[in-house]
This record gives sequence, C-alpha cells and structure tokens, in this order.
Amino acid sequence: MKFRLCTLLAAFAVLTSSTIAVAQDSAKPLNVLLIDGQNNHKWKETTPLIQATLESGDFAKVTVATAPGKGEDKAGFAPKFSDYDVVVSNYNGEAWSTETEKAFETYVSEGGGFVTVHAADNSFPKWDAYNRMIGLGGWGGRNEKDGPYVRWKEDQKKFTRDMSKGGGGQHGKRVPFMMVVRDASHPITAGLPKSFLQVADELYGKLRGPAENMNVLATAYSNPATGGTGEHEPILMTIEFGKGRVFHTTLGHDVAAMNGLAFQTSLRRGTEWAANGEVTLPAVPAAKMGSDEAATGAPANASDVEGDGQSASSNSNVNFDAAPDLKAEGWKSLFDGKSLDGWNRKNGTAKYRVEDGTIVGTTSEGSPNSFLCSNENYDNFELTFEVNVDEGLNSGVQIRSQSREKGGRVYGPQVEIESAPGEAGYIYSEATGRGWITKEQPIKDAYKNGKFNRYLVRAHGNRIQVWIGDQKISDIQDPESSTNGFLGLQVHGIKAGTGPYEVSWRDIKIRDLN
Ligand code: ZN
Repeated sequence: MKFRLCTLLAAFAVLTSSTIAVAQDSAKPLNVLLIDGQNNHKWKETTPLIQATLESGDFAKVTVATAPGKGEDKAGFAPKFSDYDVVVSNYNGEAWSTETEKAFETYVSEGGGFVTVHAADNSFPKWDAYNRMIGLGGWGGRNEKDGPYVRWKEDQKKFTRDMSKGGGGQHGKRVPFMMVVRDASHPITAGLPKSFLQVADELYGKLRGPAENMNVLATAYSNPATGGTGEHEPILMTIEFGKGRVFHTTLGHDVAAMNGLAFQTSLRRGTEWAANGEVTLPAVPAAKMGSDEAATGAPANASDVEGDGQSASSNSNVNFDAAPDLKAEGWKSLFDGKSLDGWNRKNGTAKYRVEDGTIVGTTSEGSPNSFLCSNENYDNFELTFEVNVDEGLNSGVQIRSQSREKGGRVYGPQVEIESAPGEAGYIYSEATGRGWITKEQPIKDAYKNGKFNRYLVRAHGNRIQVWIGDQKISDIQDPESSTNGFLGLQVHGIKAGTGPYEVSWRDIKIRDLN
C-alpha cells in the first residue's frame, strides 16, 4: 500500500470520528479505482452501492472512472492504475485502447490488485491476459477453446476441470443460494462461516477460461429445480497474475443482490486481500451471516458491515431450539380422513387406501419405491404426522421433492420411517446418489414399534429438523437439495417372496413458515 497525503488526511478523519469500528491495522483507507461505463447490467445503480460497500467505516476511498460509452472513442480513457492499491471492475463492454489494456496488464502483473464483480467476467472475451487474470469467464462466445469448466465434485471431494464442448456462461432463476467455503485457510474466507446464504442473485454456472493459478474459495450448488446446472459452481476465486492478486466474485447481479451481506462481506474482504495480500477485517460469526436466512447489509449507514446483518426473510421468528408447537396457529390439515384428495401417486404401484381416518400404503411385489405425493409444493414449513409401519418395511416422507421428467422418478430429502432398531428420523437423499444427509446417527430406537409415532419436521432455508415424539433426531444444513417441492408418502419396494407389508399415516398437518 502506498503512502500519500490524501490517505493520511483520511486516516486523521477516522481517528477523530466516533465511528471507529473496522479493525484495520492501519487506519489508511484502501485507495480504490472503480471502473464502470458499459455493462448489460444497471451499472449506474450498482456502482454507488459497490462504492458505499467499500467506503463504509472508512474502509476504502473509491474513485470512479467511467469509460466511454458504446461506440465512443476509447483513446482518452487512460486511468493511472498505478495510483491505486486495487482496481475494481463493474465494466462489461467494448475493448479499451491497446495502450490502456497494456497499462492494465503491467499494473496487475507488477503487483497491483484487481477485483472483478459479476458481469465484469463477461467482458473482453478476446483479451488473453484479461482472461488469465479472471481465471474463468462467461458468454461473449466463450467455449471449450477458452478453457475448462471448473467444478467441485462432492463425490470426489475435489475440483475437476472439464474440457467437454460447450458454451461458457449460464444462470437459472434468481433465488437465494448457499455458498460453501472450499478453502477456509485463505485470508478472505478464514473469517467467514463454513457455509452461508446469499440473497436472491444470479448463480453463474458453466464459466470457462484458462483457470491458471486459480484457487476457488467458495462454491454454490446450482439447482436444476430453478434452472441451474446441477453442479457446484465456483463463486469466489483468487487468481495470481504475475506478482498481482485478483479476487473474482460472480455475485452481484443487481442492487438487491448487492444488498446481500454475503456479497458485501466477500467484496470487502476480497478487495483488501487483492490490495494488500492480507485481510484485517473482523471475522464474521455464523449468527450474523449464517445458513438459516440470507442476511442483508446496510453499507450506506453502517460503520461495520459485518456487524449489521439483518434478516432478509419475512419470518425471523422461527425458534430452532424448540420442536414445532402443535398448539400454534396456522396448522392446516393435508388429509381429510376420508379421501386422497390433494394427493397423487408417483413412481411405483403400491396401493394407497383410506381406512378409519388413516392413509394405508400396501406393498406391491416387484414394484419400485412408490410415493403418494401432495399436489402442492411447500418450501418453508413445519410438518407433522403420525405413522405406524410394519416391522420389516422401510418407509419415509419426502419433503421438498421433485420427480424426473423422464420416468417420473421421485427424488429429494426423505424423512426416514423404520421400525426400531433403525434409522427412523434421519434424512436420506432419495434417488440422488448422495445417500444419508444426516451423517451422524447415534439414536436407533426413537421409533416405538407396533403403534403410531408422532413425527415433527421443520424445513426452513437449508435447515431441516426432525423430532419423533419429543426426541430430536436430525438437525442438519442441506445446501444441496432444493428448498421447494412436494411431499411424498413412501412405500418402499420389497424383496420377492416377502410382504405384503403396510404403513399407515394419520393427522397429517402443515404450517407455513414464510
Ligand atoms: Zn447478471
């Protein structure tokens, strides 16, 4: 970091103000150049937010350089990059002059810092050095000639480089998504929770590029249920370019996304690291930026963005410490006791009938797993039911589930039902190849055989909790499954020559937590 008079004056201002909350070891704000001027995103709205995020708490002093617009002469656009600790790009547009591009390459390769935000990685598809700086890019005609897709493979617990043919750049619907830290030893991520939610944003997928000297710090699962790739896509990356440091964030599609605490926190930490190679910002506790609800920051009036996370959810009153309260208001019955109205069968051929106010499922030899599924989808909810399963039969209740277009196979999280000793109350990922989502299963006898057992389930954000009676069995974070989908009462397939077995459900009720 270079020392100059203006930063000395700014440092003096910090020391004399009452808003010293940001733990920088030196009181000198980072000297940031923020580039905009063209973008297929609303850069005139987002630049002030990036600026406010970085300047909050006198963390940085931002100078904005606005490049000429589309078709305009670029010759005069020649910022003096070396005057700054770090350059942040909110620019996605036409090429700069050869001289300016060369100057930028020299600046970064000689030790300058660079931060690319969201669509800035769509820019300059033909500029070789730029693509090596950003590691991965999207759109602009990028394809297999530009480099691999880089993805985290959960089954192999590592990143793979996929050179298969195809375009670069993709995103599904804008939804909140869970970021998972893959390198917690890096200064940028060392102070962050292991996983945390970003508010609704574009989750970039299928980025491709040289990916040289690149370290992926965090990924997010791009959910096919919302138009995603089904891959764990890189979201936060660092790249070494010569002696320079690059921080790449794909977050930040619009103002709403940039209000996300995950965006703001990672941008500030990444910008400091790109500038100085270290992060002095305080660690962020999971209580502030966690995986239950996506938090927003308030950079314009917060002296410490990390400390001012507020819930973006409309329901922040969920008490995760207690089981769902059956006396609470808002419970709605999903079964009228007389008919299967509101339900449809998927997948197998097991029989479902209504008898004495219960839904009875009977196995059918040779059938795959069968599911009686709710016609409606549910995302954040509490669910309760009583169930009585024959010994020897495996059953369960699907939540937030989908069925495949081809073949109709039902998949998603399943709350296990099984006579004791067994895995009753644990959560299994049906038909996804993931196996058990609840990894630790110390309790094997919560289910009382030969009678109805009360289940209580809470699904909120990525958190899923299960009780049988008053015993808590599961309490997990599941960033990989969809957070919305149907319910399904499972009758498992059986071995030839066994059965028939029955499983009965009654008093099935749901309570909306949105
Ligand atoms: Zn976007």
